[in-house]
Amino acid sequence: MIQPEHQRRAYLEALGIDVWVPREEVGAQVDGSAESDAHANLLTWDDLRETVAACTSCGLHASRTQTVFGVGNPQADWMIIGEAPGAEEDRRGEPFVGRAGKLLDEMLRAVGQGRDRVFIANILKCRPPNNRDPKPEESAACRGYLQRQIELIQPKIILAVGRIAAHLLLETDEPVGRLRGSRHQLGDTPLVVTYHPAYLLRSPSQKRKAWDDLCLAKQLLRETGA
Ligand code: URA
Repeated sequence: MIQPEHQRRAYLEALGIDVWVPREEVGAQVDGSAESDAHANLLTWDDLRETVAACTSCGLHASRTQTVFGVGNPQADWMIIGEAPGAEEDRRGEPFVGRAGKLLDEMLRAVGQGRDRVFIANILKCRPPNNRDPKPEESAACRGYLQRQIELIQPKIILAVGRIAAHLLLETDEPVGRLRGSRHQLGDTPLVVTYHPAYLLRSPSQKRKAWDDLCLAKQLLRETGA
């Protein structure tokens, strides 16, 4: 049986073997995602969920257990955006369920929010092997899904947790330490950057700053009149 090329690449990647892709091909994959952006633009919440579950737009589909669409209230005021599912999230189909997720839950509870009241999503809906950083073609392939989630939820405040989410949402490569602590915008929606809870587990002395970021997000939300 002939193995499809994207499947072959995903298996090699899962084994940690670098796969070189000709530049034109990366371009074609990103262009392909522009098509899926246009398609995702028209989807209802339920259709979007189904489309994500069946997605094969990038190689990650071959190594995932399941997609991780997001969790919470689709009419939430707060939207939390992280990087990508890890091993536990891939197994359970829910974002932020490991140790970092427990800390995120505590942080949210401290500002009066629970997992069921906010909406938590990731830049990527599939787990990158060995929890490596998302590749540009993977985040491009997933971009339309996150964009449509944001359009449908219409959050009043977005909290970007960690470097990957902050960089991709704000299209910058400034360090998180410089992006946090102030107001950004994603279209019309105010956005606050904070440290990833996995980083806070390694550097608990930074928790104070994350608390300040959550307070800033809460204040910006209040200013919207919500
Ligand atoms: N880290 C993330 O950024 N997202 C998850 O869902 C889990 C860990």
